[in-house]
Amino acid sequence: MTSWAVVGATSFVTPLILALIARDLVLGFFLKRGMHVFLSHTTCPGCKYQLIGQTVDEAGGLRCPECGRPTTLTELGLDGPDDLLPEAPTDSVG
Ligand SMILES: [Zn+2]
Repeated sequence: MTSWAVVGATSFVTPLILALIARDLVLGFFLKRGMHVFLSHTTCPGCKYQLIGQTVDEAGGLRCPECGRPTTLTELGLDGPDDLLPEAPTDSVG
């Protein structure tokens, strides 16, 4: 014997769950795409080594620690040194 309350709840919950799964798939796609674009701008043009966390000089230049190739933030298509994320602190706090 089927209760109409169960049928009603199922007909409401199933599309909701499918919609939430679809939303998560779309958000995951755009998150992956955004991370890929960001990481492609933070690699050395010469050897593709990740330059995240490298020290940037006042002129916006930096040197790849892997191959030694000099590059600039402008060449990488970045707006400023913060786009390479700040270096990890060397001094302990406290
Ligand atoms: Zn390099």
